[in-house]
Amino acid sequence: MTSAVDNIDEILSTIRGADHRVTTAKRTVVEVLVGANEHMTAEAITVAVQRRRPEVSPSTVYRILEEFEELGIVVHAHLSQAAAVYHLAGAIHGHLTCDICKVTFEIPSSHFDALSKDLLTTFGFQLDRHHVALTGTCQKCREALSATTHNT
Ligand SMILES: [Zn+2]
Ligand SMILES: [Zn+2]
Ligand SMILES: [Zn+2]
Repeated sequence: MTSAVDNIDEILSTIRGADHRVTTAKRTVVEVLVGANEHMTAEAITVAVQRRRPEVSPSTVYRILEEFEELGIVVHAHLSQAAAVYHLAGAIHGHLTCDICKVTFEIPSSHFDALSKDLLTTFGFQLDRHHVALTGTCQKCREALSATTHNT
């Protein structure tokens, strides 16, 4: 959470620093992740990688994502029933997903500070602020719901 691994060179040196080989496939995955401005499933990452390097197989991409996760370069999150999404570890934030329109909002992880501290002192439980999205109803859908209720 403290080390903002968000540029290509920094990430490549993290890989080398852990005595892992930097392959063309790994470099391409890094390029895709750094260029991503949204959450990407492993499948979407594979499509983007293959657009640049058609010879890279999906299983290679999956293996690289696993390796990157072990190295702390990427994290994944579950936003809804859909497949897990990946982003660079430097961009940790909380997720709120609307059950009705399925839109996911990113919120600063500081919103969990009070809850996190409370859970730790009361239950000795360490909250993971990022891994799973909180679900609920977004403002737009709440307004739409209350509008229909008022009309009937
Ligand atoms: Zn998970
Ligand atoms: Zn996210
Ligand atoms: Zn909504």
